[in-house]
Amino acid sequence: MEKEFDHLVDKAIELGASEAKILDTDRIVFDSRSHLKCRFGCSRWGRYWTCPPHLHISPEEFMEGFSRFHKAIIIKTTDPKIGQDVTLAIEKDAMLSLGCSFAFGMALCVQCDECAYPEPCKYPHLARPSMDAYGVDIGKTVELLGFKVAFDPEGKMLPAWYSMVLID
Ligand code: SF4
Repeated sequence: MEKEFDHLVDKAIELGASEAKILDTDRIVFDSRSHLKCRFGCSRWGRYWTCPPHLHISPEEFMEGFSRFHKAIIIKTTDPKIGQDVTLAIEKDAMLSLGCSFAFGMALCVQCDECAYPEPCKYPHLARPSMDAYGVDIGKTVELLGFKVAFDPEGKMLPAWYSMVLID
């Protein structure tokens, strides 16, 4: 583990993450087929401000910004709400403790039971896009750290949610 980031990993665990690990951003795996999985088969499509097609930042603009980040902390939780809370707390901590100008969290937005879309987002200061919304292959990325996205025989994802904070 890289010592400079130990406190972020420790804090994520303290706040309820089951595990958290640091990854160089150039190892994060992107696959444009993630967009297909968003578009076809995901019940969130078109219903959340933080999911396609309502992102309002193109994949090209996202990749331009993404290329400026060098490290990511990948956070594993067993509950998406805890995952979002931990992710936002780590994003804030990275800004305060490391002086990051643009630490940026990516987490499934579950702040509201039902997203307010098409009404304005109720908590824009807490809403962040999910990783797959911008083409991250979550399974292959987390495998690099020894994590696994696992499914039960019915195809339901077993309770392990992944989010990340990009650090400049
Ligand atoms: S904070 Fe609420 S309204 Fe805003 S994107 Fe998230 S779920 Fe939707």
